[in-house]
Amino acid sequence: MGKMSSRRSRHSGKAKRPQATRPVSFVKLAEELAGIGRNFYERGWVLGTSGNFSAVVSRKPLRLAISSTGLDKGSLAPAHFLEMDSDLKIIRGKGRPSAEALLHLAIVHGREAGAVLHTHSVWSTVLSSAHAAKGGVALEGYEMLKGLEGVRTHEHREWLPILENSQDMTELARVVSKTLGEHSAIHGFLLRGHGLYTWGTSPQEAKRHVEILEFLMETVVRSHTLARIS
Ligand SMILES: [Zn+2]
Repeated sequence: MGKMSSRRSRHSGKAKRPQATRPVSFVKLAEELAGIGRNFYERGWVLGTSGNFSAVVSRKPLRLAISSTGLDKGSLAPAHFLEMDSDLKIIRGKGRPSAEALLHLAIVHGREAGAVLHTHSVWSTVLSSAHAAKGGVALEGYEMLKGLEGVRTHEHREWLPILENSQDMTELARVVSKTLGEHSAIHGFLLRGHGLYTWGTSPQEAKRHVEILEFLMETVVRSHTLARIS
């Protein structure tokens, strides 16, 4: 009976014992993130190999499942994910992580996030460029805000900080950590002329946050455009 159930659980992926779940977790997270990546590609949020995705496999020691760099997200597969430690060392998988892996680590450390998603959409690029001088953009008065974890009313004011873009990831990771420390309630931030970072306790929660923030960014840009021409 015991033997049967352990064999069944190994095949079904439903084993509860920690030693059995660890490798399954990486595979499961890689499958989930690959599906999210393909979905985002179809929606035009990660074109031309842009964007990257990660999820926490274990916290002690810290292990991340993270997309390998330079891949077409339209055909992203679980085999395109690496298991990485907090020193960017690859434990498992082929390829190398994006230079932006340091930002993923800064968010996982700063927010106890279970997943981090990064997109390069048109709306995040336009909005982050237009509002850069103000250091961020306030999203308020919209029903869709309630899709952000912990938000219960459209009267919520969500501050979306805009950080100056840089190719120096060590410095940028430091700015990200500082921003997360200064704004304890934020659900994401923008890099100027670059894109969106958001996170969640799970890949699905982080995906929901991308959808909500993308919706709100598009709404803000379209509203401003309409106000100018009408
Ligand atoms: Zn990027």
